[in-house]
Formats: sequence, structure tokens, C-alpha cells
Amino acid sequence: MYSPFDTIAAVSTPFGKGGVAVIRLSGPDALTVAGRVFRPRSGKAVTDYPARYAVWGDIVVPDGAEAAFGRPGEVLDDGLCTLFRGPASYTGEDTAELSCHGGILVTRNVLTACLLAGARQALPGEYTRRAFLNGRLDLEKAEALGNLLDAGNDTQLRLSRSGMNGLLTRQAEAVYGGLCAVLSNMEAGIDFPEEDLTEMPREEILRAAEEALAEARRLLSTYRTGRAIAEGVPTVICGRPNVGKSAFFNRLVGRDAAIVTDIAGTTRDVLTETVSLGKVTLRLCDTAGLREDAGMDAVEKIGVERARAAMEQAELILYLSDPGMPTEADGDVSERELARAEAAGKTVIRVLTKSDLYPGMESVPGSIPVSSLTGDGFGVLAEAVEAAFIDGGLHVGEEAVVFSARQAAELASCASALARASANLRAGLTYDICADDIREAMSALGSLCGRTAREDVINEIFSRFCVGK
Ligand code: GDP
Repeated sequence: MYSPFDTIAAVSTPFGKGGVAVIRLSGPDALTVAGRVFRPRSGKAVTDYPARYAVWGDIVVPDGAEAAFGRPGEVLDDGLCTLFRGPASYTGEDTAELSCHGGILVTRNVLTACLLAGARQALPGEYTRRAFLNGRLDLEKAEALGNLLDAGNDTQLRLSRSGMNGLLTRQAEAVYGGLCAVLSNMEAGIDFPEEDLTEMPREEILRAAEEALAEARRLLSTYRTGRAIAEGVPTVICGRPNVGKSAFFNRLVGRDAAIVTDIAGTTRDVLTETVSLGKVTLRLCDTAGLREDAGMDAVEKIGVERARAAMEQAELILYLSDPGMPTEADGDVSERELARAEAAGKTVIRVLTKSDLYPGMESVPGSIPVSSLTGDGFGVLAEAVEAAFIDGGLHVGEEAVVFSARQAAELASCASALARASANLRAGLTYDICADDIREAMSALGSLCGRTAREDVINEIFSRFCVGK
């Protein structure tokens, strides 16, 4: 297996032709490897230069390299080399960054030279994983960084920046600190029940536990907003044939919008597209019927069962109808289904399509007229979706917002442990029983901040990064 103590190398700029490319080295031999492949024009050795100093020179084939690659000492490119000495580097280890011209072949040759000089190819996310393991960033920051790289709109970017500033970790640590005081008082009470060693009387311990509970619940409640921004709201577009679902979908996706398409299995029929609508990210589920030949009934095509399953999973249902088309008979299945979805807590937004065809039409309460042809009404639709999923009182970017399912799960287990602790304290149970729940709540907060995160959780987070990050 790969050792975390290897010196690693990767191209950290995107693949392709560009002005410059950066090849990053990190690990115990990073400076030595840099010295083997980089010759400053000054004639000095690169390792003689101070850290964070950009040195100009030649990138060369290292000594002992295969003949097939080039002669040792042959110049591959000229460029800059910057050294960072651990722990003052991104990874916390010794690091070197080589900037060369951004040609595909040049970049690959420089990377190969680094590998021949003693580095090994970095794994996806390995730089950031090392930064985490060396305490250079916590899990919230690592997750936020992943989101920052994926951000498709400004609100996502703002949320990622707040995560990188560690706002949530700071709040969680404040709660943790409060619980520490509670626990130490309880433990004093357990060990010396007769002596009055506890500074906090029981009512005060109870109050502190309940304040922590309220704060954990408050933080947890921000997840609806954080999720709508960062992870996306599972959404379906439905309606009868020809009401304009395909045209609506195409307008939402936009010709030049960033589209993420997941094709599950070998068939092309289960598709998810991620689009931004105002501040909200929509994960459009099962768009199979919407992508191919327009005019065909999506429900018919993907089957009623599939449509139902998509609705089942969705949290937002955009129900489209064309005001010029006859309304459905009473007791229509889809109407019944919509009512059921609403009763199950899903958000249903009714959209009237093709508004350009019906200029003088009176507005129908509760429905939003749009034209996929002109784009009219999409701003109003965005506001309606934001109103349903974004807490307007929350200042995203300035306040702590829970933005991943992992964070939400840790907070939820913290809150339930604290709810038990407060119920037990109120019921007058002994401190030794209550202390277990406080410890559990603290451990969940510890995992939230990455103090005690499990290996699989860490793997999951870093698997999202690309090679070179
Ligand atoms: P679907 O079966 O629900 O997917 O409906 P389509 O998107 O295929 O649209 C059915 C017909 O309505 C097509 O001829 C579209 O060009 C037309 N259509 C859809 N949206 C609009 C719109 O906003 N304005 C106008 N004028 N026509 C539209």
C-alpha cells in the first residue's frame, strides 16, 4: 500500500493546454526531489534559497533517468520553483511547486521527471488529506474546500467560504466547551457525593445542558438552507403530455449552464441534472423522459411506477400545466398524488406554462406563470423556491450553516443525547447516568469538528477531490 510518508507529485492545474501548469511535490524528500529536477539559472542549488521565494531556472531530466525519456541534464522547460518548508505549507510537509509552460506534453514530462527523481504519483485528494492529518485544516474546512471547487453559483461560493473560515466548528466548539464544564461538575458529584465539590448546582447543570441542546437544534435547523444551497433539493418536473416540460427543463438547465450528468448503470434512462435556480441548487431527478424526443409523454415513457418513485424521492415537485389545455377531470390521479405529496411535507409549486401565448391572462392564485420561450416568470419561480427552502433570516457566509449530511447527522446525535440528558436530569436521576449522555453528545461534536472522525468518513470526504488537490 501507499505510505503516507512517501513524497508525492501531481499536476495541480487542470489537464489541458494553458498559460502555466503547476506540478506540486510534497513529503519528506520534496526539496531533494526539486533539487534533482530544477537548476536555478543563478547556478546556486534551489535548496539554498529561502522558502516562499520564486526562483527562475531550468527543469531537467534527473540523473539516472531512463535513456528512453531523455539524457540526464536535458532541459525539459524553463520555469519557476517555489519551496515551502513544513509545517508552514499547505500540507504541513516540505513542499515544492514547479511552474512550467502549460503544454500537455511539457507538463507530463515535468511530472515524469519528478517521479524519476524519487516521488510517486499522488492519489486523488492526497495533498488535502495530508493537510488534514497534519492538523492544517479540520474536516469542516476540507468539506468546504470540496464545495468551493464544485461551486456553481455565488451562494454556494459564499457558503463554502464560511465553511473554510470554520464558522460551524467554532460554534460546535463553544457548545463542547459548555458541556465540558457540565461534565466535570457531574464527575465531581459522582466521585464525592457527600462533599459539596460541585460548583454548579443541579439546576445550573440542567440549564447548561438545555442551552447546549437548544444550540445544537438551532444549528441543525440551518441544514435545510445549507443543503438546498450545497447538496441540492431533489426535484421532479411533472405534468401532462405537451404542457411544456421539456422546454421548461431546457430553460432551467440553460445552454451554457454547468451540467452534472450521472448515468447510472448501462442504460441511459436514469439521469440526474444539477442546476441553479436563484440561490437554490436543484437536483432534477429522473429526467429521462425530458431529454429525449420532446412531445412524448414522460410518464408514459418512463412508466407510472418510475414517475411515482421519482416523486416519492423528491422534496420539490414542479407541477406544470398549460392554461390553454383542458383541465383534468375531477379525481385525476396526478392531482390526488400532488395532494398526497403535499400532505407528506413535500413542496409542490404549480407552474403555468407558455405565458407568452396568453398575454392578458389573469393570474391564478398559487400558480406561477412562466414562458420557457422568453424566460419570463423564472425570477418569480426562483423566489418561490427560495422562500420554501432558504431561511431568509440566516446570513449565509457570515453565520454558521450546516452544509453536509455528515455534519447534520453528528448534530442530530448530539441533540438526541442532550435531550435524554436533560430529561434524566429533570427526572432527578443520578449524575452517573446523565454523564454518559453528556459524553455521547461531546463525542458527536468532536466528530463534527473532525477531532475523532472515523477513517471511512475521512475517506468519503477526500474521495471527492481530484488528483493534485
Ligand atoms: P412536454 O411534452 O411536456 O415535454 O412538452 P414540450 O416541452 O415538448 O412542449 C410541447 C409544445 O409546447 C412544443 O411544441 C413546445 O415548443 C411548446 N412550448 C413549450 N413551452 C413553450 C413556451 O413557453 N411558449 C411557447 N410559445 N411554446 C412552448
